[in-house]
Parts: sequence; structure tokens; C-alpha cells
Amino acid sequence: MSALTIVMYHYVRDLARSRYPGLKALTVDAFEGQLDYVARHYRVCSVREVVAASRGEYRLPPNACLLTFDDGFLDHFRTVLPRLVARGFTAGFYPPAAAIEGRRLLDTHKIQLILAACDDTGKLARRLLDLIDARRDDDAMPSGEALWRRHAVASRFDGPEVIFVKRVLQRGLPEATRSALAQRLLEEYVGVDEATLAHELYMDTEQLRCMARLGMDVGAHGAAHVWLDSLARPAQAAEIDATLAFLARIHGRPPVDWVMCYPFGGYDATTLELVMERGCALGLTTRVDVARDLRRPLELPRLDTNDLPTSAAATPVAWTTTVLGGSNG
Ligand SMILES: [Zn+2]
Repeated sequence: MSALTIVMYHYVRDLARSRYPGLKALTVDAFEGQLDYVARHYRVCSVREVVAASRGEYRLPPNACLLTFDDGFLDHFRTVLPRLVARGFTAGFYPPAAAIEGRRLLDTHKIQLILAACDDTGKLARRLLDLIDARRDDDAMPSGEALWRRHAVASRFDGPEVIFVKRVLQRGLPEATRSALAQRLLEEYVGVDEATLAHELYMDTEQLRCMARLGMDVGAHGAAHVWLDSLARPAQAAEIDATLAFLARIHGRPPVDWVMCYPFGGYDATTLELVMERGCALGLTTRVDVARDLRRPLELPRLDTNDLPTSAAATPVAWTTTVLGGSNG
């Protein structure tokens, strides 16, 4: 087959007029522009078509594209859904169960809100190091210097201070410690209670059912949104089973040919075995690439929305031209 381009989205919102204009989000204008670009250069496929293609039962068009939205944000119901429906597009949505049903603000989103509320990331990184030092008597922890050396490494989209804060609070410290630190910084920097934030941030089960009724794929993104490859086999199985039980409650029946979107793109050989045993049809990773074939359907790469232009008139980028062999505008 020809290549399949899968695009990953997170926040899509009227950023300038939202409570946190500093959030790393796609604006509504940029999103609409990107949908125009996608409509011009690609054929948007449904999850069902990709599943059928992975089994040789369907032939994807040469410029196939699948749109995917992670984390169950209310943005997806309010902003994304009507714009997809207006264009006749379907897409995949991957909400973490604990955020939707438990109305818990996930640590990863606490960290994003803290970063959005902070205007000096150097100061935030120093504050985090101070808080770690203050707990040093209670917890066995690496030195601040060792943590900095290990985690303050710039990424594709963030500088070293932001990556330091993200990594230390996401996985650089024991879970109880980093959760407590994220909560403390949330109170200091954001100062809004967790229930309110969860209500503002996430869809609820009825909204997800509405999306499914409108032809959207609602699939798995873990229960607590943790790196599956950091867990032992029984804990991984428990996470995946909790996710499937959540999907069964959303859809009113056990999921069939379901999609696993690995939280943080984290998975290992055990994860692949566990999801395969449970009938998973497609696995979405965060490895940045176009899927050149569907022979490994449980390890599909994705582009980030930032990898594609946000206007139909934009010169096609290499991710597009390599797939099409030139613009077909
Ligand atoms: Zn996620």
C-alpha cells in the first residue's frame, strides 16, 4: 500500500480568549487552516477504513490521512467535532478513563497548566529544585544537580527548563513525590481547585457517546495515563483492562477492533502482547513519521499537528510531498 499519514492533536481552542492563553494549544484559526491543508492534499480516512486496510480488506487512497485527538479534552467536543462534521471528516478520539469518569486532573495536564500560568520558566525550575530540596530528608532523591543534568534537555518544541519541569514531574521522581510536587505547584501557580479544572478541561461520558454516534472512533488511552512500559506485566494488564471496561461503558458493549493510543507513546513487547490478546486492531505511538505500510498495525507512527502547515495555500512540507511525490493541489 501507499503511505498513511496520521496526525496527532491535543488542545484546540480559542486560545487568546481562554483562561490560560499561555497553554501550548492550536488556535481555532490554525486548526481550520490545517483542515483546509489536509483537505487539499490528503484524503481523510476513518479508523474503520484503516483497520480494514491493515487486514488487506480495503485499499486506502494514495494520500490517506487519519486525524487523532488525545486526552479527552472538552476542546474536542466544542471546537473540533463541529468542524469535522461540517467537512464530512471522521477522526479518532482517545480519552484517559480517570480524567473522564473520575474527573481527576491528570498530572501531565497539571504540569501543562502550571507552565501556562508561569511567565518565567527559569524561576519555575528553580522553585521546583527548592521544593525537592525541602523534601530531601523524607525521600531518597538524587541531587538537584544530577536531576538537572539528566532531565534539562531541549526537545523539538521546548527549551531545557520546560523539559526539566515536565520530566521531573512526569517520571524523574518517585510517583508520590512528583504528584505531591505537581499539586503544590498547581496551587501556587494556578490556584484553581482540581474539580473546576477537570470540569473545564475534559469531556464527560455523554459527550463521548455523542461523538461516537456522529461516527467518531472513541478508543483507548489508558486509565490513569501512565507510561505502560514503566509498569510490570500485571499492572499493565490492569491499566488496559480498566480502559476496556471504560470503553464498554461508553459504547454500551465490549469494544471490538479497538484502537490503543499509548499514553506518552510508551509501550514495550509486553504491552503489544497484552493488547493483541485483547483484540486491539491498531496501536498509535508518538514516533514521528508517516506509516509507510501497515504491516505493524500496533506500532503506527504519527506526525504532530506542528509538523503540518496551517493554511491551504501553504507550500506543502516534506512530510506531504514525500507521500504524494509532489503537490496534487
Ligand atoms: Zn495523552
